[in-house]
Amino acid sequence: MNVIYMGLIMAICISSVSLAQSTYTNPWALKDVGTLPPVASLTGGVWLKGDLHVHSRHSKESSNHPISKIIDFSKAAGIDYVCITDHDNHVDGDVAHHTWADPEFKSESVLLLYGAEWTTTRGHGNVFSAKPYEHQRLYDVRDQRDVNVGAVKKELGIHLSANHPSGKDHFGYSYDMLESIEVWNSAVWPKNANAIMIWDDMLSSGRKLTGRGGSDVHHGAPDTPDKATKNTVQVKANNIGTPTTWVFATARTSQAVVDALTNGRVSVSANPYAPRVEFFADLDQDGKMDMMMGDNMKPTGKPVKFRVQLSGNSVAGEYTVRVIKNGNPFDTLQVNAKTPYVEFTDTPANLGRTYYRVMIEGTPTPYPQVPESMALSENMIALSNPIFFNFDPKF
Ligand SMILES: [Zn+2]
Ligand SMILES: [Zn+2]
Repeated sequence: MNVIYMGLIMAICISSVSLAQSTYTNPWALKDVGTLPPVASLTGGVWLKGDLHVHSRHSKESSNHPISKIIDFSKAAGIDYVCITDHDNHVDGDVAHHTWADPEFKSESVLLLYGAEWTTTRGHGNVFSAKPYEHQRLYDVRDQRDVNVGAVKKELGIHLSANHPSGKDHFGYSYDMLESIEVWNSAVWPKNANAIMIWDDMLSSGRKLTGRGGSDVHHGAPDTPDKATKNTVQVKANNIGTPTTWVFATARTSQAVVDALTNGRVSVSANPYAPRVEFFADLDQDGKMDMMMGDNMKPTGKPVKFRVQLSGNSVAGEYTVRVIKNGNPFDTLQVNAKTPYVEFTDTPANLGRTYYRVMIEGTPTPYPQVPESMALSENMIALSNPIFFNFDPKF
C-alpha cells in the first residue's frame, strides 16, 4: 500500500466521523412536556392513615405477632389501613397460602392490602395491591436481569416500592421499576438520611417516586410473661404506626389507598397522633389552591403561592418547616398551634423540571401505645411528598 492510498483512506475515515458527529442531536434535551393530565379534585377524598411495612407470624424472625394482634393494635391506634408484608423467601414465594390464607387475615374496619416483602439477594422491596396477585412469579424472577424482572412486574400490574434503600438489604434493582420508596423506615428517624438523599436524586432526575413510611415492626406484646422474647423490648419502641403514612384517597377502599400511593398524594407522620402535613399550591394566585402534593402541572411563568398546613388535634407548640427545592434547602419557616399554616412564593422554571417538598420538625407528639418511639424519632414530625412542575408523565 503506498502512502498516497493510505492517506486517502484516512481522509475518508475522518470525514465520515465528522459527518456522523454533525448529524447527532441530543434526543434527551429539555423540551416542552406537552399537555399534562388534569389534576384530581383537592376536596373529593378522605385522609386515611396506615402502615405499609408490617411483619406477622408468617415471617420467621417475628415474635408474638399473629395477624389478629396486628388488627387489634391498629384499631386501637385508629389506623385505617395496613399492608402485612411478610418475607416471601420464608415461604418460597407462596404468600398466597400463608399470610393471605390465614383465617385471621380479615377485618371489618381496617383495610388490609395484599402484599409481601420481596426478600432477595439484591435487596428488599414491598408490593402493595388492592387484590390478590401472583406473587410467586415475582419471587421466581428475583435473580434475573432487571429487564426480565421489570416485565414480570408490569404484567402483574402491581405497585412496587423500595424498602430501607440505603441500609442493609438496600434495593439493588433499577428504580425505574418502582412507584414508591420507603424514605422513613421505623421509629429511628436519623438512620433515614441516606434514603432521603436517594429519593432527592431520583426526583431530581425525573423519577416521580412517592416517598412513604413503614415501621417494619416484627414483634408484638406477649400474652403471658413466659412468651416474652429478647425482642419484646421493641414493642414499646417501634410498632404499627411508627411512622404513619397518610394518603388522600378518593374513597375508603384498598384500591383508593394504592392509587393515592401511586399518585403521591401522601405524607408521613412520626405516629398516628402526630400532626399531618398537607402541602398545596395556588398556580395563578387567585387565592384558591390548584394542586396538592403528588400533583404535576405546567408553570405559567408567574410566581406560585405555596401553602404548608399542619392538621390534627395534636398541633401544639412551635414547628420548623424546611422547604426543599430540587433536592436543595430553599427556605426555613415557622408555624405554631395558633397559626398552623404558612405560605411562601416562588417561580418554577418554565422549561425543565422543578419540585418542592417540605419537612416538619418540632416537639414530638406522645404515642401512648409506643411510648419509647418519640425519643427515637427525635424532633422529626412529618414530611410531605413533592409538588411537581413539568415532570414528563411518559418518562
Ligand atoms: Zn427488609
Ligand atoms: Zn421488613
